[in-house]
Amino acid sequence: LVVLSRVNKHFGELHVLQDIDLTIARGEVVVVIGPSGGGKSTLCRAINRLETIDSGEISIDGRPLPAEGRELAALRADVGMVFQSFNLFAHKTVLQNVTLGQIKVRGKDRRAADERARRLLDEVGVATQADKYPAQLSGGQQQRVAIARALAMDPKIMLFDEPTSALDPEMINEVLEVMRRLARDGMTMVVVTHEMGFARSAANRVVFMAEGRIVEETTPDRFFSNPRSERAKDFLSKIL
Ligand code: ATP
Ligand code: MG
Repeated sequence: LVVLSRVNKHFGELHVLQDIDLTIARGEVVVVIGPSGGGKSTLCRAINRLETIDSGEISIDGRPLPAEGRELAALRADVGMVFQSFNLFAHKTVLQNVTLGQIKVRGKDRRAADERARRLLDEVGVATQADKYPAQLSGGQQQRVAIARALAMDPKIMLFDEPTSALDPEMINEVLEVMRRLARDGMTMVVVTHEMGFARSAANRVVFMAEGRIVEETTPDRFFSNPRSERAKDFLSKIL
């Protein structure tokens, strides 16, 4: 579904993505882990073109990422993204947050968009919050709205960049539970996370990134029980 080949990205002197090759199959759940500054967020952002790349290729469904215009907006809809900071539209209600893109980008009428939004809000457990504003919700609720907003676009893939890192412990699980269900339902997902329990239980594959490279790429079982690289061993010894 998504293919990155020989992708390179620099920020000035810093080589943040170094010859990244990665293929994500339909329905696959790929968890990306690794030390801070390793390039995980940049990788996610490159996949929906929030960052441009210097060389290499990224394609979705066999087509290179569009550079601009309506195609780019469609790409952003096809590639749902949920960030650490909830970044909902603060001046729109929860319901409006979830209908806006459906109407503007997908061209749905308001009735259909409302219906879909309410169903999604129900699925992520925040149906009763539909008419509130984001600031009136807990972090966990806001993050579940952010997930519903991305899902409302019928994305081909969902990218999660540390979706639970800014949450209080008791809210982490309610968000992870929504993500686990999505994974079970067959959504293609790339998840940057420090939640090793989630990585073990929901991932098909773990990608370990450090200093701009994919150092190791394997099953969660193998990664956690028997990491091959010193870099991964060192990382795991610090977090587990
Ligand atoms: P973390 O676990 O802390 O989120 P990360 O693996 O997501 O780290 P990135 O955010 O991708 O890492 O950053 C990789 C490197 O690129 C870091 O050294 C960061 O400081 C740098 N970087 C990221 N975005 C920019 C930018 N817009 N301009 C300059 N440097 C940047
Ligand atoms: Mg990051």
